[in-house]
Amino acid sequence: MHRLEANIVQVKARLQAAAAASGRNPNTVMLLAVSKTRDPKSIQQVAQTGITNFGENYLQEALEKIDTLKSLGLIWHFIGPIQSNKTRQIAENFSWVHSIDRLKIAQRLSAQRPLTMPPLNICLQVNIDQEATKAGFSGDQIPLVIDEIAQLPNIKLRGLMSIPAAQHDPAAQRLPFAQLRSLLEETNCSLDNYKKLDTLSMGMSADLEAAILEQATIVRVGTDIFGPRNKTTL
Ligand SMILES: *Cc1c(COP(=O)(O)O)cnc(C)c1O
Repeated sequence: MHRLEANIVQVKARLQAAAAASGRNPNTVMLLAVSKTRDPKSIQQVAQTGITNFGENYLQEALEKIDTLKSLGLIWHFIGPIQSNKTRQIAENFSWVHSIDRLKIAQRLSAQRPLTMPPLNICLQVNIDQEATKAGFSGDQIPLVIDEIAQLPNIKLRGLMSIPAAQHDPAAQRLPFAQLRSLLEETNCSLDNYKKLDTLSMGMSADLEAAILEQATIVRVGTDIFGPRNKTTL
């Protein structure tokens, strides 16, 4: 078996075990392959195993790969920091954006989403453990931001995303994920049925089990699918 294929078998087994441990259907957890810094050939090999959702952090790099691989019909998710002068190309080339950390970015994406495309799926990034250096809304800001975003025609607010600080202890890993889940549940209490949020984008290679136990619906996995990233290129 190819190395990437073997990695994917392992990640899927972990995902399935965590889903089983929390009484969930494993099909309710999307495995998003984070392909930043990876070449098109590796992405193609991963796509051949049946994975269709890929996450990218750097726009220029992503646009090249999206173009090279366009015949594969992959679904692209933008998960990196967003500068406002980059929103047009994001709106034109992605199906999902997980890293909305300012209202202005959501407004621009809605205005720039081509009307020939379905609404852009978005998640609000939440700085759940309130690290000073990290992007994202605070939990307190979420209700207000959601009211504003509900007015925007060409984006569909799907849920919340977070990148908590790395922790080794499984119980400690679960804590911020539990907080994000509660925030989603509280938010949904105040939303009409047809607007309810259905997405928790949380969990990466090192903590995907903890995230799934706290109801993650998308886990974003790079290293454990593709192997370690070259540190000089991130
Ligand atoms: C790089 C990255 C990941 C994947 O991290 P791994 O530890 O390699 O699985 C997930 N989410 C975001 C936002 C990332 O930037």
